[in-house]
Amino acid sequence: MYSISLEQRKEGKKIGFVPTMGFLHEGHLTLVRKATELSDFVVVSIFVNPIQFGPGEDFDKYPRNPDRDCRLLRELGVDVIFIPSENDMYSADYSVFVDETMLSKGLCGTHRRGHFRGVTTVVAKLFNIVQPHVAIFGEKDFQQARIIQRMVRDLNFPVEIVVAPTAREPDGLAMSSRNTYLSPAERRQATVLFKALCQARQMSQDNPPDISTLRKLTEQTILQQYDKSNYIPVKIEYIEIVHDQTLVPLEKIVHPARMVIAVRIGNTRLIDNILLK
Ligand code: AMP
Repeated sequence: MYSISLEQRKEGKKIGFVPTMGFLHEGHLTLVRKATELSDFVVVSIFVNPIQFGPGEDFDKYPRNPDRDCRLLRELGVDVIFIPSENDMYSADYSVFVDETMLSKGLCGTHRRGHFRGVTTVVAKLFNIVQPHVAIFGEKDFQQARIIQRMVRDLNFPVEIVVAPTAREPDGLAMSSRNTYLSPAERRQATVLFKALCQARQMSQDNPPDISTLRKLTEQTILQQYDKSNYIPVKIEYIEIVHDQTLVPLEKIVHPARMVIAVRIGNTRLIDNILLK
């Protein structure tokens, strides 16, 4: 991969890169289209990164379908699909990590210990291998996008980071490879996430309530059961209102505030976020 990229760079081509874990959906494809717009040579990686999954998480059952992924990417005219093996990426005795130490502490960092260290490490490695000029990440994984921007700033990676908007299903659910885990009843229940976020945005724009009221109302909406005949366990991991750039929890809704949420619907953990103001 590295030599292909150097060759392209010598020819003056701009390399665009989209790292993914595969099982592609329209959200991934919007990132790829953005990369095509912004560069001359597009690389997409597919790698389910073991070190960003904690013990007991879904690494083994994470959905995979590389044949379908490759077909979709070829249809979009992607130049290189990079699918490294675990051995390609990690020597048996690997011992160096990239660790962001501020933005990764709260939110998903609290609930998924070591997750972001796995993410920053693999993205740093992929940047070194792919040598992109620009890399596209999704707003859906908002904390991840901010952490990558911080990594690039603090470690002087010569890569421009572009954050592309969240692609949603027609009923508002953020697209995710993990949505395939949802049963039909859970899938219906999952629409509460985006409804609650939109409601929170609406309330913050009209006549903002205080933060604790806004969180409480959002919580109530999320816990409300849509399918009364079929109880679905819903567990809120967090509902936070944070500064859009620094991810610091806010005491008042000020510009730019973002609501970020993580919710378990049945056994499936879903995340989403919205800019409030
Ligand atoms: P993943 O394969 O889940 O690791 O995601 C790869 C990239 O796609 C990340 O930058 C994600 O933020 C992005 N992504 C995932 N879902 C969506 C979505 N619904 N809309 C936009 N980007 C997304």
